[in-house]
Amino acid sequence: MTFMEATIDGLLAMVAEYQPNADLAKIREAYDYAAKAHGDQKRESGEPYIIHPLKTAINLAEMKLPQNIVIAGLLHDVPEDTKSSLEDIKEHFGEDVAKMVAGITKVGTIKYRGVERYIENLRKMFLTLAEDVRVVIIKFADRLHNLETLQAKEPKKQYRIALESLEIYAPIANRLGMGEIKGRLEDAAFRFVLPKEYEWAENLQQTALTKQHDYLENVLAQTRKTLDDTGLEYIDVHGRVKHLYSLYKKLLKHDRNIAGIHDIIAIRVIVKNIADCYAALGVIHGKWTPLKGRIKDYIAQPKPNGYRSLHTTVFCEGGEIVEFQIRTEEMHQAAEFGIAAHWSYDEQKVAAAKENKEAPGFDWVAQLTEIQKEISDRQQYLKNLEEVKIDIFKDRIFVFTPKGDVIDLPEDSTPVDFAYLIHTELGNTCTGARVNDEMASLDKPLKSGDVVEIITDKSRKGPNPDWLKFVKTRHAKTHIRQYARSSIASWISSVIPKKLLKK
Ligand code: MN
Repeated sequence: MTFMEATIDGLLAMVAEYQPNADLAKIREAYDYAAKAHGDQKRESGEPYIIHPLKTAINLAEMKLPQNIVIAGLLHDVPEDTKSSLEDIKEHFGEDVAKMVAGITKVGTIKYRGVERYIENLRKMFLTLAEDVRVVIIKFADRLHNLETLQAKEPKKQYRIALESLEIYAPIANRLGMGEIKGRLEDAAFRFVLPKEYEWAENLQQTALTKQHDYLENVLAQTRKTLDDTGLEYIDVHGRVKHLYSLYKKLLKHDRNIAGIHDIIAIRVIVKNIADCYAALGVIHGKWTPLKGRIKDYIAQPKPNGYRSLHTTVFCEGGEIVEFQIRTEEMHQAAEFGIAAHWSYDEQKVAAAKENKEAPGFDWVAQLTEIQKEISDRQQYLKNLEEVKIDIFKDRIFVFTPKGDVIDLPEDSTPVDFAYLIHTELGNTCTGARVNDEMASLDKPLKSGDVVEIITDKSRKGPNPDWLKFVKTRHAKTHIRQYARSSIASWISSVIPKKLLKK
């Protein structure tokens, strides 16, 4: 939520700060254009309509996104709700903006109800992701404001929109590494989907925050002082409160007991560069004893969604357990805004990202294009939906090839999944695996950090259909099935005369 008043001048000031060469006059023109087009339309809340596109654009400016995306945010409801045509927008603001606006209108129009609606919605989001990720990000910014003003809608709509945000928008935001956006979407939707649970979790959170407030202020002060004493320069030291929905999910894992959760508030240390991250970790460990096995180096080994930071949990003053997260400012920006952060630093990357060639850790966005091609008809999409969802939404692990290349897979993937991801032929001919130098069966669930080597037998004819029982990725399943199908087809043609087949 933004604390500034929503005005076009406020928006322009935000953009000017992160993009000094932005054409502010053009952004103002887009605002005036939208304001005129929406005329005296009102939102269900009674507010003038223009507040909505303005807030959408402000959400985008918070992610420090380039001018054209902000402009598309301002114009995103113009063609749908007004008489202005896309042609006209193209004339005034260029083809790039017009294409984004057209994309938003397209992804927003869902014809169906119930399960059908869900499928249609997910399919459109995936299609849009594959075509232009920026459109999905504008959709997030739009949805955030819709959720924040959901109170004005009728209860049935509230529930539907909130549920859709939890089931479709937030998981996609998460996979795009947009931690802050995912958290905001979830928290805003949570209260409408599970109102009782929301209240329960919020109460627990508030009680914990009140109890810990003074203690953490003291720890923050001591952290700053300890860093100062060693002469280590830092940009910021602050406390971050865990997003409510994410706390709620953790509570469910802990039998609803808050006592075992140590990161309701974590302490963030932002420093200038990577060397200082490790130096700061040393300083903190010199002051407080770290818990064994709780030091995580996501700088050397980033999470599959690109997240980078050092995490450690220490016994603080009086033996209380506190989590620290240490990172540079660039890592911080990337952790909050994910794929969007890749563009904000370098305008040229926008073009590359549109081609889905840029942004490490986001190869799956490009893979989506392939999935779209493969599964073009709706009936088949329905059948494959679960598999696509596992590929895209399930928590990811990363494992290593013997050469040290990182391979990113859904949780519980097996050596067969790994083999197919590297090469179809490797999958088709695999007979065994070595995991961390020990022989392992082909159905062994892999864990993050495993080093996996595939043993092949070139004389092997093809995959074993039984593998379908344990493989996790859609990719592996498709190849195993394809092989089965083509071998059945060639068997059929070998035993049945060609003439008969043609009938
Ligand atoms: Mn809108």
